[in-house]
Amino acid sequence: MDPVKLCRILIPLLLLSLMFACGKRADAALEDESSVYSEHLRDEIPPDELKRESQASQQGELLPLEKYNYTWTDGAGIPDIVIIVDDFGNSGGALLSDFAKLPSEVAFAILPDLPFTRQSGELAAQYGHEVLIHVPMQPVSTSEKPGKNYIRTDADPDEISSLIADFSAQLPMAVAANNHMGSAVTADRNAMASVLRALHAQGLFFVDSATSTQSVGPALARNLGYPALKRDIFLDVPDNSAATLAGKISSLEKFKGRREPIVIITHCHNRAKLEALQSFITQIQSMGLHLTTLSAAGKIAA
Ligand SMILES: [Zn+2]
Repeated sequence: MDPVKLCRILIPLLLLSLMFACGKRADAALEDESSVYSEHLRDEIPPDELKRESQASQQGELLPLEKYNYTWTDGAGIPDIVIIVDDFGNSGGALLSDFAKLPSEVAFAILPDLPFTRQSGELAAQYGHEVLIHVPMQPVSTSEKPGKNYIRTDADPDEISSLIADFSAQLPMAVAANNHMGSAVTADRNAMASVLRALHAQGLFFVDSATSTQSVGPALARNLGYPALKRDIFLDVPDNSAATLAGKISSLEKFKGRREPIVIITHCHNRAKLEALQSFITQIQSMGLHLTTLSAAGKIAA
């Protein structure tokens, strides 16, 4: 081959592989953040759900999602999808900016009182994402505090409304709120009524993360005349494997004919979760499903 021609082929290839190697190193540094969260995620997901999902999943499969034999191929009649990414506020940097580059319909649930709370809210808004206050609430298990300040079942209505007002001041762009942990609070009628009233006073509606099967949140909200949504699927439970994602995609068929959008929650803890979410979005869009915003979903649920 003519040496000039050979150089024209080899030099771009060399540059490309160098870029790839640098990218990998940056990603490896970011992955360390994930261990901080693994314990707490256990507290955030109902134990029976975690067990059921673990039994259903086969770990380690890395086949591309488009090669699966799904139980459905026609997306007609499957409602639009709302995606919420939980637990922002602990880190910034490349991982946060890459989450911000997701389609703008994806909503960011941001924890208050953390080093990157305000920055996460501002970046989300800048990229057109809607924001939820990810309100720390008392879980049933007392092993871990949900946050520096959190809603307790024995807090009085004034205390709850001043906490919510404080969280709201940190994230003024928020349109809704969902619970971080909170299995004790969402099952408590009195505490939950105060939370819903306080959120409504700030112009926010409630999205139940459904960490407890005993949650009274959405039913109580509707009694009070407020819109509310409830999480249908945790995308990253029990893991981010292609087999788990494919299983979740197959499960969307059971919502066929429902009026309310499907509410899917995942977490921002590491790059593997971001990549799994990107694959999920690409795949469902190729199967004819549509993403919608949290506000649009809230209007349908009202
Ligand atoms: Zn959370």
